[in-house]
Amino acid sequence: MNVSKTVYEALWQKWGPQYWWPATSQLEMMIGAILTQYTSWSQVEKAIQRLKDEKVLDIQSLASTPSSQLESWIKSAGYYRQKSSYIKGMCWTLIEKFKGSTKELFLLETHELRNELLSWKGVGPETADSILLYAAQRPVFVVDAYTRRFMSRHRWSPENESYEKLAERFTAELEKDHALYNEYHALIVRLGKTYCRSKPHCESCPLKFLLIHPVSV
Ligand code: SF4
Repeated sequence: MNVSKTVYEALWQKWGPQYWWPATSQLEMMIGAILTQYTSWSQVEKAIQRLKDEKVLDIQSLASTPSSQLESWIKSAGYYRQKSSYIKGMCWTLIEKFKGSTKELFLLETHELRNELLSWKGVGPETADSILLYAAQRPVFVVDAYTRRFMSRHRWSPENESYEKLAERFTAELEKDHALYNEYHALIVRLGKTYCRSKPHCESCPLKFLLIHPVSV
């Protein structure tokens, strides 16, 4: 059985398109990818709205905003000191290396771009791949805690599988298509928030028909 395709079809049949990433610019997506670390999207939305209200959602303004000011504006997203320094670092890198333009950054080829993003403070594989997939529209599969959880509960991968191997598990079975990966990740997040939570709700889950062993938590 092609697990990746079967799971996708079941989730798509249940929910259809998710219309991700909810942002109006590449920069907003990149900032959202940093702010969403260790917090819920509703808290990220509040922080982004605040940046819009303050009219600072551009590279130059964010780079020149004093750290303490930026921290207070993004406080709702949690870990605001670290996140403020990551956002400012990102903006300064864009100014110094990429003419202050996300478009210039996204001229890099995918592998080179991923390495560049991973060299930035506060950007790990999940954040880098979210930026690659949603802001740069590259066919890169994003792995997150929800992906890891449902894959290990179904015994399709070990709980401590490496990020790269887990991503390969999907890409080996799917077409290399950024629109498909976009929907797939969004559907997995919906699955993790709705059914495959810390305490799983297998009885009503769209993936119940794929469960061979009882889930232990
Ligand atoms: S059937 Fe259970 S273990 Fe599988 S994805 Fe749904 S909630 Fe998670």
